[in-house]
Amino acid sequence: MVRTRIAPSPTGADVHVGSVATALMNYAWAKKNKGQFVIRIEDTDRTRIVEGGEAQMLSTLKRIGLIADESPEVGGPYAPYRQSERLNIYKKYAEELVVKGKAYYCICTQERLAKMRSEQQAKKQVPKYDRLCLAHQKEIISKIKSEGVRHVIRLLIPEGQIKFNDAVRGEIIIDAKNIDDQVILKSDGFPTYHLGVVVDDHLMKITHIIRGEEWLPSTPKHVILYQAFGWDLPTFVHISLLRNPDKSKLSKRKNPVWTSYYLDQGILPEALLNYLALMGWSHPEGKDIFSLDEYIKVFDIKDIQTSSPIFDPVKLEWMNGMYIRKYPVLSIKYKVLEFYKDKKLDEKLVEKTIPLIQDRIKKLSDYLTLCEFFFKTPKKYEVDLSNKKEFFEKVYSELEKVTDWKALVIGESLINLAKKLEIKNSQFFMDIRLVITGKKISPPLNESMEILGKEECLKRLTRIQFFCIFSV
Ligand code: GLU
Repeated sequence: MVRTRIAPSPTGADVHVGSVATALMNYAWAKKNKGQFVIRIEDTDRTRIVEGGEAQMLSTLKRIGLIADESPEVGGPYAPYRQSERLNIYKKYAEELVVKGKAYYCICTQERLAKMRSEQQAKKQVPKYDRLCLAHQKEIISKIKSEGVRHVIRLLIPEGQIKFNDAVRGEIIIDAKNIDDQVILKSDGFPTYHLGVVVDDHLMKITHIIRGEEWLPSTPKHVILYQAFGWDLPTFVHISLLRNPDKSKLSKRKNPVWTSYYLDQGILPEALLNYLALMGWSHPEGKDIFSLDEYIKVFDIKDIQTSSPIFDPVKLEWMNGMYIRKYPVLSIKYKVLEFYKDKKLDEKLVEKTIPLIQDRIKKLSDYLTLCEFFFKTPKKYEVDLSNKKEFFEKVYSELEKVTDWKALVIGESLINLAKKLEIKNSQFFMDIRLVITGKKISPPLNESMEILGKEECLKRLTRIQFFCIFSV
């Protein structure tokens, strides 16, 4: 049985797009193998917790469709799925390691540790705990029992090499002498990441740990823990971090990193997942566009690439545009209505306008940028039209005569007028476009005018006489 997980820490306002890429692989691998995908919240580093971060993360993951089989919200056979609710479990396992001689109590004060570290640094040694407490375990244990003295539990790092296999990077060998005796249980009773993650992945029967490469330096410590407990290792897969187009690490300074930012722009969840699926993996047939179901079918851990994938929001938008184009009008209508639900747009009107812009928009938020004039008379024009009053009067008289208000007929009558007035088509239509839509760029003009209706168009043509704010 394949069981995968993501184990986010609620230390940010939302889910990072890189974490969604990781979550997607975990999700796909579980689904492909008819297994389970678990979400576990790792909230043991209390100082870094961002208020509301967990709820936001869980809601964003649902919004993009990565639905967990087990999580703090839906529960499951290994609940609780929030580490802060599992403290007694970590304590028990940490103490078990002490009994086995694989870990020890440490009562060194912060002052002593700081002094030790600066002395080591002065001697150009790697700062490492000097194991003072290891030699006095009996006294320390009785001190803890009788006086309740503050203590931590440290992992006793064994000598020799630590070997493990990464499913994409191959065998990794580390010399344990460079590893400090890690604190695994803090004095406040919270585990550190290493203990929490190993205990939970074991108890929750996780078979594959697919996570970002930033966790690779932690894995040898985890391997030591697995061995200390006598547990089998899961399959480790460390995937490369996303980079900006200039190859720098994806960070808030260059591009937005929070997933909701993209969804709030009207990037479709399925397009975002499709794009992220291509981060460090390619479709065996070289396809760019594929569904989540297809991805699940063809994805294989062994095909994950180790080169750093580039997350380019411009390409993401391009892909989103491809998705928007391939959907039927009705489906885009509902997506637009849902996206702008606060604005309560007229459903019929949205439906009529979609065919005009479906090929042009790249994200749902482009819709009103192009189409707002259908719902609201423009309040300002991108070009000053104040000296065009007479011209618009002529257009008015011409259009007033049109009885069959259809794009083709409107177009013909306007072309005739342009000829008669000897105005170049480009200038002629630009001015009409501006007065009708407010903008220099709009959906096709004749079709837009047909949708707006004769009365509204005539009104907009006369409006210029008393309303002439313009903006550039
Ligand atoms: N809590 C870690 C994080 O915030 C989890 C790392 C892991 O997947 O082991 O991403």
